[in-house]
Formats: sequence, C-alpha cells, structure tokens
Amino acid sequence: MRPIDLHCHSTVSDGMLPPAELVARAAGNGCRWLALTDHDDLDGLETASRTAGECGIGFVPGVEISVSWRDVTLHIVGLGIDPASRTLREGLAQVRSGRAERAEQMAAGLARAGIGGALQGAYRYATNPALISRAHFARYIVEQGHARDTGSVFKRYLVKGKPGYVRHEWASLGDAVEWIHAAGGLAVIAHPGRYRVSAAGMQDLLREFRELGGDGIEVITSSHSTEDYQRFNVLARDASLLASVGSDFHAPEESWMDVGGVPALPLLATPVWQALGLAFEDAPHADGSRLEAVAGTA
Ligand code: AMP
Ligand code: MN
Ligand code: MN
Ligand code: MN
Repeated sequence: MRPIDLHCHSTVSDGMLPPAELVARAAGNGCRWLALTDHDDLDGLETASRTAGECGIGFVPGVEISVSWRDVTLHIVGLGIDPASRTLREGLAQVRSGRAERAEQMAAGLARAGIGGALQGAYRYATNPALISRAHFARYIVEQGHARDTGSVFKRYLVKGKPGYVRHEWASLGDAVEWIHAAGGLAVIAHPGRYRVSAAGMQDLLREFRELGGDGIEVITSSHSTEDYQRFNVLARDASLLASVGSDFHAPEESWMDVGGVPALPLLATPVWQALGLAFEDAPHADGSRLEAVAGTA
C-alpha cells in the first residue's frame, strides 16, 4: 500500500463519516497524507485539518467540482487549495445552488416509477442539505427495499434514461480549473475511466484540459480496473499531466477501497504529490518504515 489518499468524502457531501471520523480512520489505516475532497463544498476542511494534526498525519485541503463538458458530467478535483479563496467559494456556491430543485425533479420521476417519499427520504441521509445528491437517493431506495445495493439503484433508477435521472448543468471545465487555480491548487480530472467518452473524446478532453491549464489526472482510484491503471498511466505520461491517486472512499459498506491509501502500483508520469511538495522522506510511518521507500516505487 502507498500511504497517500488524495480523494475521499465526508458527510459534508455524500460520504457517511463525519470529517473527524474519516481522518481518524485514514490515520488508523496507516495513511501519511490525506486530502478531503468533498463535492462542491469546503465545510469539512477545517475540522479535517485539525484532526489530521492531532493524528499526526499530513493534510491536503481539497474539493471535487461537478462539471458539465459536452454531454457528460465530469468531476475535477482541486488539491492544495486555499479554503478561504473567495473566487473558489463563490464558484462552489453557484454550483451547489441548483441541487435542491434537481432533487425535487428526481423525486417526481421516482414517484412516477412507484418510489414514493424519495425527497424526504433522501434528505434524511443528507447531513448537509445543500449537497443533496444521487448518493442520498440511492441509500433511501435501498432502505425501502427496491434494490439490494446502491450500485444497482444507479443502474436501474439514477443514470441517463432512467426514471430518477435529471439532466443538470454544472460548472464549465474552464471555470473549475480557474477557481482551483485562483485558490492556489492543482486541478486533476477525477476517475477518468468512468466517463462514457470514446478514445477520441478522451483525447479531446485531455487536450482541452491541458489548454485550460489543467494539471493532472487520477491514475489509481477505486473505480479503475487494472486496464484503466495502465491506460491512464500512459495517457498521463504522454499528455505531460501529473498522476494522482485516491480511494474515492464514501462509506465503509459502499467503497471498494478503504480510506487512507491506494495500491502501490507504478506511476509513469510525475506524481501529483511531488508537485504539491508533500514530503515523505523525513516522515516516519506508523509501522516504523520510511515513506521514502514507498513513495519511491513511483
Ligand atoms: P450527484 O453529484 O448528485 O450527481 O451524485 C454523484 C455521486 O453519486 C457520485 O459522487 C458517487 O458518489 C455516486 N455515484 C455515481 N455513480 C454511481 C454508481 N454507479 N454507483 C454508486 N454510486 C454512484
Ligand atoms: Mn460522491
Ligand atoms: Mn467523482
Ligand atoms: Mn469522489
């Protein structure tokens, strides 16, 4: 395991653990550097940063911004951002603002498909109502016995063409990169293997992202297959983009990777932690090993 995790969620967005519990869990799993990257909101960063200090692990303030590019929704992670940045805060407030109305429309669609009470039901799962998300609807739909897990809920109800899906216009790719840069952070395309774009479309996306000043892409992330690791390793190297890593952890029962680390697979491009200046060398790890060796496998 490589003890760095630059992508995870707390109850400030659609994760199930409050920021302090999430950070403590990461530390318990041997994490050395953690970024909290809640969707479109920075409210967990202060508590997470304080807890990381108490646990003796390094903390990177982050965010995951929802973006509309062509007809796909993309997620852009910002790493090393200044949470006080006014440009970023105002941008995120604007991105969040459409969620309540979208949720009402989703609930109406689900009601027509025979799932009642979804609006109130989803809000029960949303600790931060401003961030009401499809993940909260999915949890309610599982609770009501309409599907056995959230993955099946998405397939049957919450993706394009299904009754609970509502098209939504998020931030533009250029805005997301600009806000992250205005806050002093690095912009990284989250889980590129998840987007339904052709190989040519992916090349267009990477080119456009590069031209906008984008910095990196995630190579190691829980929704990537072994083939994706290889594919995005090569694409990152060839596009001169930094390689990022993160679990995208949401909840103990829902996630493929636990929070706090990622498989120590080789990276072909420069790791994003080097650009962020995260020191591993003189940081003794919990098990006494030195992180230099782990980070050095890149
Ligand atoms: P939203 O921002 O409301 O569109 O919700 C997106 C969130 O739903 C993502 O960040 C994931 O946490 C979750 N999600 C998206 N697709 C899936 C899926 N196929 N299975 C499980 N969770 C998903
Ligand atoms: Mn999510
Ligand atoms: Mn995402
Ligand atoms: Mn995420």
